[in-house]
Amino acid sequence: MIPPLPRHLVDYLRLSVTDRCNFRCVYCMPPEGVPFKDHEDILSYEDMAFFVSVAVEVGISKVRLTGGEPLARKGVPGLVRLLRAIDGVDDISLTTNGTLLPAFVDDLTAAGLSRVNISLDSLDPERYRALTRGGSLQKALAGVEAALAHGLGPVKINVVMMREVLAELDAFLELTRQRPLHVRFIEWMPVGGCGPQTNESSLSKGNLTAALRERGELMPVASPGGWGPARYFHLPDHAGTVGFISSVSDHFCDDCNRLRLTADGRLKNCLFSCDEVEVQQAVRTRDREATLEAIRASLGRKTFDKRVLPGENTRGMSQIGG
Ligand code: SAM
Ligand code: SF4
Repeated sequence: MIPPLPRHLVDYLRLSVTDRCNFRCVYCMPPEGVPFKDHEDILSYEDMAFFVSVAVEVGISKVRLTGGEPLARKGVPGLVRLLRAIDGVDDISLTTNGTLLPAFVDDLTAAGLSRVNISLDSLDPERYRALTRGGSLQKALAGVEAALAHGLGPVKINVVMMREVLAELDAFLELTRQRPLHVRFIEWMPVGGCGPQTNESSLSKGNLTAALRERGELMPVASPGGWGPARYFHLPDHAGTVGFISSVSDHFCDDCNRLRLTADGRLKNCLFSCDEVEVQQAVRTRDREATLEAIRASLGRKTFDKRVLPGENTRGMSQIGG
């Protein structure tokens, strides 16, 4: 029997375009990288669009392309175009490290991309290079500028909270003062065994809010656009906002509206769970009924109270589509 759908609407799909990446961020991948899936195991863009055309039947209306680094796979604007043509998809966003964005931003915008989130963990070139294991801050900032110039907003900047962020707090705040950027500090999540393993190296929302309050009054505001677990604050005279995604210290599973599809065609109903439903075969054979059944099976097992269970997930963030 097909399980019932969850008690509230899951309307947001995080679609992992690829498990490959041009970076090896310290909190996401080991220095040697992770074993990548063979090309033949990865869904084609047509497969992904077929999946989404079925997922809208259970209420999915927003799709975020992620990875790995989505722009490391060729032809992402073509995928955006396919998704735009699906009735019922009303928002297509992209999470990227931004470095390849200037090269694709025209095509992505023309294809109908709604907006981007850019990961940027440091505004210091040397620290940025160290955290990403070789990335160029200049290129990432060019990505931010490209997103702003093409109206792919609200442009959100993702910063994983590590202790060193405290020393850069003023630089990040300056970014939100000058530009309509929304800097979101994300608690490091123990997924896939990478990154800081102790409280000495990671920061919690509590540590950071205390430091922010010293710099001015934080006024809670609605999300600048989009949905999800982030809580936003405005500082007087700032064009943008600061936000927190406190997946570890706060419990935000209750109103989770997400479903994930990995690049190799597995459905995941929770970032922190091993529960996966294989949908590759159904998608490749264009079997709408079997695809729908797989979605219902995955959503039917979504628990909404998973909390963070360190080490349970065997896939890393880049392999799930964080
Ligand atoms: N490569 C793209 C990027 O970096 O934006 C998209 C994929 S990346 C896995 C998506 C987001 O997950 C990024 O904002 C990244 O900072 C975040 N992330 C990766 N590993 C994380 C971890 N262990 N804890 C918290 N956030 C993490
Ligand atoms: Fe790549 Fe994004 Fe993971 Fe960094 S966070 S290694 S850019 S997938």
